[in-house]
Amino acid sequence: MTVILTVLAALIASCACAYHRTSLRTWAIATIATTVIAGLVLQTPWTMVILLLIELAIAVPLLMVGFRRQQISAPLLKMFAKVTPKLSETEQTALEAGTVGFEGELFSGKPDWSRLLREPKPELSAEEQAFLDGPVEELCAMIDDWQITHELADLPPEVWDFIKKNRFFGMIIPKQYGGLQFSALAHSAVLQKLASISATVSSTVAVPNSLGPAELLLHYGSDEQKNHYLPRLAVGEEIPCFALTGPYAGSDATSITDYGVVCKQMVDGVETLGMRLTFDKRYITLAPIATVVGLAFRLYDPDKLLGEKEDLGITLALLPRATPGLEIGRRHFPLNIPFQNGPLHGKDVFVPMSVLIGGPKMAGHGWRMLVEVLSVGRAISLPSNATGAMRTSTAATGAYARMRKQFGLAIARFEGVEEALARIGGLTYATTALSRATAAAVDRGEKPAVTSAIAKYHATEWARQVASDTMDVHGGKAVQLGPKNYAGRGWASVPIAITVEGANIMTRSLMIFGQGAIRCHPYVLKEMQALSITDRDEQLRLFDRALFGHIGFGISNAVRSLVLGLTGSAIGQAAGDAYTGRYYRKLNRYSAALALCADVAMGVLGGKLKFKEKLSARLGDVLSYLYIASAMLKRYEDNGRPEADRPLLAWAFHECVWRMQMALDGVIRNFPVRPVAWLLRVLVFPFGRREVPPSDRLGRRVAAIITAPGEARDRLLEWVYLTPTPNNTVGRMEALLPQVIAAEPVERKFGKAQKAGQFKTHDYVSQLHEAQAQGVISAAELALLEQVREGVFEFISVDDFDPSELRAEVTRADRQPAVAAGSEAEHGAS
Ligand SMILES: Cc1cc2nc3c(=O)[nH]c(=O)nc-3n(C[C@H](O)[C@H](O)[C@H](O)COP(=O)(O)OP(=O)(O)OC[C@H]3O[C@@H](n4cnc5c(N)ncnc54)[C@H](O)[C@@H]3O)c2cc1C
Repeated sequence: MTVILTVLAALIASCACAYHRTSLRTWAIATIATTVIAGLVLQTPWTMVILLLIELAIAVPLLMVGFRRQQISAPLLKMFAKVTPKLSETEQTALEAGTVGFEGELFSGKPDWSRLLREPKPELSAEEQAFLDGPVEELCAMIDDWQITHELADLPPEVWDFIKKNRFFGMIIPKQYGGLQFSALAHSAVLQKLASISATVSSTVAVPNSLGPAELLLHYGSDEQKNHYLPRLAVGEEIPCFALTGPYAGSDATSITDYGVVCKQMVDGVETLGMRLTFDKRYITLAPIATVVGLAFRLYDPDKLLGEKEDLGITLALLPRATPGLEIGRRHFPLNIPFQNGPLHGKDVFVPMSVLIGGPKMAGHGWRMLVEVLSVGRAISLPSNATGAMRTSTAATGAYARMRKQFGLAIARFEGVEEALARIGGLTYATTALSRATAAAVDRGEKPAVTSAIAKYHATEWARQVASDTMDVHGGKAVQLGPKNYAGRGWASVPIAITVEGANIMTRSLMIFGQGAIRCHPYVLKEMQALSITDRDEQLRLFDRALFGHIGFGISNAVRSLVLGLTGSAIGQAAGDAYTGRYYRKLNRYSAALALCADVAMGVLGGKLKFKEKLSARLGDVLSYLYIASAMLKRYEDNGRPEADRPLLAWAFHECVWRMQMALDGVIRNFPVRPVAWLLRVLVFPFGRREVPPSDRLGRRVAAIITAPGEARDRLLEWVYLTPTPNNTVGRMEALLPQVIAAEPVERKFGKAQKAGQFKTHDYVSQLHEAQAQGVISAAELALLEQVREGVFEFISVDDFDPSELRAEVTRADRQPAVAAGSEAEHGAS
């Protein structure tokens, strides 16, 4: 027994050092000292000696840095160089672009929460708030979404004019060029509010403010290009589009077949250096009405007119619409959300070199330019549009479920509906925090490559879930399209958000963990970077440092994961208050588990992990849920820890943690090397899977929050257009909701009398009058019930049409053939 206790004491000292990430020297001293003390106290000299020999055999070679480098690190460096897959130029560019923010802490296995909580609360400036309360509110009041989506298949001219005049297209353009120069938070708030009334309008406004000519010019444009284009883009004198995608290049944008050849041509009698471009692009937002086209193509210089390189690579140019040979103007029809979107083509279109963004020196740098700025737009556009739509769904579905009665009860009272309402409220709460977190990161100057992918993926996936629940709760009301249907177009727009700016399956399977693992890991990138160093001593020094840091990191994460798993995350430092402290501790545990599993997956599978997309996706899910949960906790702190929000926070937090657990379980269950998987299971789930999804009781509290006015609901509905204007059914429902709730006890009294057969008449209004005459309800109560009945009828009713109103005017026979340049034959020729 004393022998076991001696070994245990040494082990505990070792683990404590690993848990707290002490230096190697501290570990050696603490472990040796503990062994000696335990050996003497417990009188186990032989055990003590054996343990000391083992400890010294480990510590001495590792502490002799010169010896360690030459005898251990050097051979490992050789092996590492052999097994490490060479990064493609594209992957290298993607890894180098962008910055790492708090997600790096989540990958560390020991997040520094004070770093998160120190960040100032993101807030709008007075000017930005005035824009939201002024022009945005005015624009929302002008929007008739049915007219846009069904009658015009376009925004009406006055809406276009208003958008341009009020510089909605210039939110990211600095004031010196006439733009609004808004913060990312304000940009996000504007899009959320527009998305709350029309997906078509919010998409139209989002695109010029996302990746496109303005963003690219700001970063790479020459002064001449900036001075020419930016002031005109800011006020909508120029309408931009950006064309990357083509029939053969979708998710893999680097495979574009569009090309340009450097050449000389006589222009107005002058020999001009330029390019002959051949391109076939599709799905391009704003293309049909664009006046300036951002174009991505591969540039070749066979005659070496620019330099020695023949294949220069992906290049970006800005083509004025009037460019001879540029064919543009036809439209695609994206799922009844008719923002301007269409193809564009050109064959042997000659343009001077001055159209290159940044001029000829930027030829061939297009991919780097795109990747460097992509993350900023991706952090704002889609997450904001999704959040705005979810907030509106919360308002509308919460109110509708309280107004719509079946089986004598508001449908919100049925447990089945309550379950859907809880998902709507909980996921909306999580998404609002997520989109705010990424906007705040952009405002801090980050280029959030990993978290923008997390935000894009999860905001749009959860918007899909919420849109689906919204449809279900509304039943036929949401199915029958027409001016009264405020949910159908939101549902239709979801696949668009899922597809654009990185289609979701690819974003989840390839990008989140693929980039996150290397970018956020404290050592892997350093190890890989060491491989490219030519000075051998320096290379070995850096590799040795990264390698042993990495080994210590791995051991620490294994110990932390096990200890936190064994204690049910009950130990360790915690940020937050008495309510949220346990949440931070839980995240500590899963952060350690993620870091451990990621390291093991990378170490065991190496380059093959890239093709194990299902494992990579699940590891990315864990990182994502850690990030989303952190964003929620930060939001809770920023709002002054409001008690009213706790059910929402608790629901969303438990959902995230449960999903994290299931994702980790999926990784371990499907890990191809089984003995490694068994070990991981012990370290990650020593007592099995203990997390559970949010309880029914919690779900009931969330449903109660979103079906009645209140402080937590108000926060969820921030930036939703709720003014009860004639074009805004959701706003008018919101206005009626307090009366609907006030009427409920009166309805119960009335219902009782009805059931008791107290009335002689049959219709509702006559029975109300009878009830008043019999003293069942007062005159004021009668007026309230009549008012509510009339008000609610408007919201439960749907549209009907004369058949001629539903027919498209253009028949199959009238349709114009597509322009020839987009044909397969043409493309094949290219
Ligand atoms: C309405 C709309 C507007 C758009 N606006 C623009 C615009 O303004 N400018 C522009 O250039 N482009 C635009 N696009 C193009 C958009 O970015 C692409 O549609 C998107 O990149 C996906 O390409 P794809 O549709 O060809 O799908 P594909 O690339 O064919 O992908 C099909 C499926 O395969 C999955 N997939 C592909 N590769 C992988 C992988 N390695 N691992 C896992 N899954 C994978 C994808 O996730 C997707 O689910 C727009 C598209 C739409 C629909």
